[in-house]
Amino acid sequence: MLLPNPIPTQFISHSFLEEKGIELAIKRLDLVNPMVSGNKFFKLKHNLEQSKSQGKSTILTFGGAFSNHIYATAEAAKAEGLESIGIIRGERSEPLNATLAHAEKLGMHLHFIDRTAYRNKTDPEFLADLKARFGDFYLIPEGGTNELAIKGTQEILDLDDQQFSHICSSIGTGGTFAGLFASLDSNQKLLGFSSLKGEFIHQEIAGLLEKHELKSQGSYEIFTNYHSGGYAKYKQELIDFIWWFYEQFEIVLDPIYTGKMAFGIWDLIKKGYFPKGSKILMIHSGGLQGNMGFTERTRIKLPTLSV
Ligand SMILES: *Cc1c(COP(=O)(O)O)cnc(C)c1O
Repeated sequence: MLLPNPIPTQFISHSFLEEKGIELAIKRLDLVNPMVSGNKFFKLKHNLEQSKSQGKSTILTFGGAFSNHIYATAEAAKAEGLESIGIIRGERSEPLNATLAHAEKLGMHLHFIDRTAYRNKTDPEFLADLKARFGDFYLIPEGGTNELAIKGTQEILDLDDQQFSHICSSIGTGGTFAGLFASLDSNQKLLGFSSLKGEFIHQEIAGLLEKHELKSQGSYEIFTNYHSGGYAKYKQELIDFIWWFYEQFEIVLDPIYTGKMAFGIWDLIKKGYFPKGSKILMIHSGGLQGNMGFTERTRIKLPTLSV
């Protein structure tokens, strides 16, 4: 799985930023592969190596019907010559949506289970049943966050990124955030923008940091007011912002993660959260394959091209 090293960082310019005395750059993980969420490659990298070193030729994982993680796992497994099985929440409906159609085309075996059964996805008995059915496999949890995923996300930032005072990331399961946090330099602050509604994410992140014994030289803050209604929910102001951002900078955002984060960053700049002289690095984690599914689901058109 080839990751360009270093990942391109792009400074954007806008009179509003100048006015506020702030620099803003975007780390373009979306350019790793325009369709695969860049952070997912980092999360999968060491897991696929581990799977191979354990002599397991099949990866099994879980996800919803529009999942970036499913899409990325199908792509990465194929690139590494591994078989993949996706356990998908819900019933199979024909034609498959763009995400699942592509995963299947890449060779992923899709297995659909109902929502009740899906809830058992971490249950040892349920996993034993899957082994009886599919043979031995290397298990990656839903969303892809585990010990080796966090080892991978600690490799997102490089030396050059030490110039930034603030690093911004969207949060789903928090695996990306946790890795970024552990790799901060002193005096750097990590800002997390939760895509999910609720204050539980504070606990979730604290739990991840504790479980994986992650220490940091920097600090962090999590914002829970930019979810735009909840996971996979949206408000018109979010869609408008995504179009505005595209028109200004020719960079495509997705409405599930990066759009909410960028909206939040822009709002915080407006409100004077960042001191003059701040240098902000926004992690564009990709996820643009999801834009097709979003449009299928909502009939709302989104920008699709990001080069
Ligand atoms: C999965 C994903 C995230 C969230 O990553 P976590 O490690 O689960 O927090 C953020 N952005 C994009 C584009 C994603 O696909």
